[in-house]
Amino acid sequence: MSKYWSSLVSELQPYVPGEQPKMANLIKLNTNENPFGPSPKVISAIKSELNDNLRLYPDPEGHALKEAIASYYIDFGIEENQVFVGNGSDEVLAHIFQGLLKQDKPILFPDITYSFYPVYCGLYKVESNIIPLTESFEINPDDYKRDNGGVIFPNPNAPTGRYMGLQHVQAIVEANLDSVVVVDEAYIDFGGETAIRLVNQYPNLVVCQTLSKARSLAGLRVGFAVANAELIEGLNRVKDSFNSYPLDRLALAGAVAAFEDRQWFEDSCNGVIREREKVTKGLEKLGFEVLPSKANFVFARHPEHKGADVAAELREQGIIVRHFNKPRISEFLRITIGTSDQNNALIKALDFL
Ligand code: PMP
Repeated sequence: MSKYWSSLVSELQPYVPGEQPKMANLIKLNTNENPFGPSPKVISAIKSELNDNLRLYPDPEGHALKEAIASYYIDFGIEENQVFVGNGSDEVLAHIFQGLLKQDKPILFPDITYSFYPVYCGLYKVESNIIPLTESFEINPDDYKRDNGGVIFPNPNAPTGRYMGLQHVQAIVEANLDSVVVVDEAYIDFGGETAIRLVNQYPNLVVCQTLSKARSLAGLRVGFAVANAELIEGLNRVKDSFNSYPLDRLALAGAVAAFEDRQWFEDSCNGVIREREKVTKGLEKLGFEVLPSKANFVFARHPEHKGADVAAELREQGIIVRHFNKPRISEFLRITIGTSDQNNALIKALDFL
């Protein structure tokens, strides 16, 4: 503890990111990255942006990217002023916590969910009312009908991978018309249906997405939110009070190209979905219980072997998966879907069970 720290820093309980090991020969199935890599068109767009223009600030509005996102969702009537872009969806979520969630009432989120939510509550002094998942690790929309300063949940949820149909999302949004409902869709493209189609129906709905997963650009740090123009204006005010240039020139160029290459995106998502079915079957054959997943990972437990022990044994064999030492889920492993070879190696390594 430093004598120079403010009391705020002393009280913080920061997010602990998954390990990014230096050893290249490890099979890395611990942080939900996409094994298929970004579109080659993204790489060439970034390369052509590597020029003397780097001396110039980027577009503070990220105009080209907002336009690309709006036209990607044109069927839902999304316009550019309904899009907000940021440096990873973590940053977009931070601005949402700062600007859109009310500080005079507790916000609602599930007990088992993305661990950044409680961290932002600590940083931005937002009170929370944490709602348990059901026995089968699902979000029950009826539990989100109490007074609140906002609601946030991922769909599919993390780290469970469980997906909730759009009619249930809609029920939560409708039950909370006086507060903002944030649907964090980091994993939506692996088989779910986006709530962006509801944005023009509900002025209180914010849908947040990332390019880190389905578009395989975790290293570029790009995320975005879609909502009605007034909420987006609120987010812009927060951004311009923090960092007017959240996205650099390379990130903007790469992200625009990612939205333009639909074929690569669709092939990549389908590849992950196919492999997810294979991994699920392989794990079930080994005796694991695997929660139904619509994400690029599965959440699984073995009735006889402790999650921490299995993770440690896999690590010995050069495979890293994620284990959370938290109530209710300490028996589970969260396993990212890798390439076909990586997934085969995973199932083979679990032969010891
Ligand atoms: N939301 C959820 C549910 C996530 O799992 C993640 C990734 N860890 C994020 C948001 C953040 O993604 P990024 O900052 O890479 O866009």
